[in-house]
Amino acid sequence: MIPIVPAGAAPAATPDNTQLWLKPGQIALPASPPLSLYVHVPWCVRKCPYCDFNSHAVPGKDGSHDIPEDAYLDALRADLEQSLPLVWGRPVHTVFIGGGTPSLLSAAGMDRLLSDIRALLPLDADAEITMEANPGTFEAERFASYRASGVNRLSIGIQSFNDSHLQALGRIHGEREARAAIDIAQRSFDNVNLDMMYALPGQTLEQCRSDLESALSYGTTHLSLYHLTLEPNTLFAKFPPALPDDDLAYEMQDLIEARTTEAGYRHYETSAYARAHREARHNLNYWRFGDYLGIGAGAHGKLSFPNRILRQMRHKHPATYMAQAMAGNAVQEAREVGADELPFEFMLNALRLTDGVPASSFHDMTGLPLHAISRQLAAAETKGLLDADPTVIRPTELGRRFLNDLQEMFLKD
Ligand code: SF4
Repeated sequence: MIPIVPAGAAPAATPDNTQLWLKPGQIALPASPPLSLYVHVPWCVRKCPYCDFNSHAVPGKDGSHDIPEDAYLDALRADLEQSLPLVWGRPVHTVFIGGGTPSLLSAAGMDRLLSDIRALLPLDADAEITMEANPGTFEAERFASYRASGVNRLSIGIQSFNDSHLQALGRIHGEREARAAIDIAQRSFDNVNLDMMYALPGQTLEQCRSDLESALSYGTTHLSLYHLTLEPNTLFAKFPPALPDDDLAYEMQDLIEARTTEAGYRHYETSAYARAHREARHNLNYWRFGDYLGIGAGAHGKLSFPNRILRQMRHKHPATYMAQAMAGNAVQEAREVGADELPFEFMLNALRLTDGVPASSFHDMTGLPLHAISRQLAAAETKGLLDADPTVIRPTELGRRFLNDLQEMFLKD
């Protein structure tokens, strides 16, 4: 077990810190928040130039897609076993297998992973189990097996249907593979999300419209539509491509808003659009400041205890992670979130939701009284960024448009 750094303290090992999370702390949580599980698969066929996720090109120079699957699954199981004392007895409502490209796992590998999860954690009978998949890694038989093993929601990284944009994004697939992937997915899954991006290098409004119409034509349950951003430490940050200006990007956003609404989707979160009752339950738990155990290379977790909230991060590099997990040290860093950081962390998530959250959930999820943020709530209302209704914390339309400004109002002084 690695040392946990108490809020406000310098990292230091203590001889007996394994029970630290149960000792008196700065907050008082009335109950445990809902718990989800995130599993990270850290490999992709190739690294995309805009991507800042913990993803690594598959090992091997011969173009094969071989990942050290058995060794990685051993490490995930060891990691989960080591984590059990922190979540003992708590039901798990959703599982998200993300990456990276989890669809590089074989059918047998996915089956083993889900069996291990079921054997070790009390998974709800109707748990939402999502896996991410990338076109170019789709075979009908394997996806039918994933479904049979218990995966019940698929999130496909389409990004665009335009070959030249896909090429500019460094994706391994083209329009043909994107369409084939959706066809295969819809044969086995009735709950499918398409991940799309807009404001792509050189993209016109018409090209954005064409991508959007293609995505809508499949009638999937969910769409995630992300504005391409240049993240630090990516190839795009080093060699920035020419991107649409802000005015054009706003026009694209307005178009997306109008067309998704006409097509029966509800814009329920900054980048997420869902048909009725098909919101991503796993992501909703993040945005509502629920708990999640994160296992796998570089995975982050947030876990609550009666008097403190911990954040964890696993070792990032796959080889280091596998070695450390097998040695009983999967967690590289565990840090208690200070009471003064919690309001911003809570708001960073909750304000992304169109409906916001019940005002009472601030206390339920942070263990702090609502009056800890009453001054900032009043200031945001005065500026027209938050609704005046005292029973909910909900951004206005203006608040959603200037979300960063609104979130920053809750930063510690
Ligand atoms: S496929 Fe996705 S996770 Fe992999 S490198 Fe590209 S953007 Fe990153």
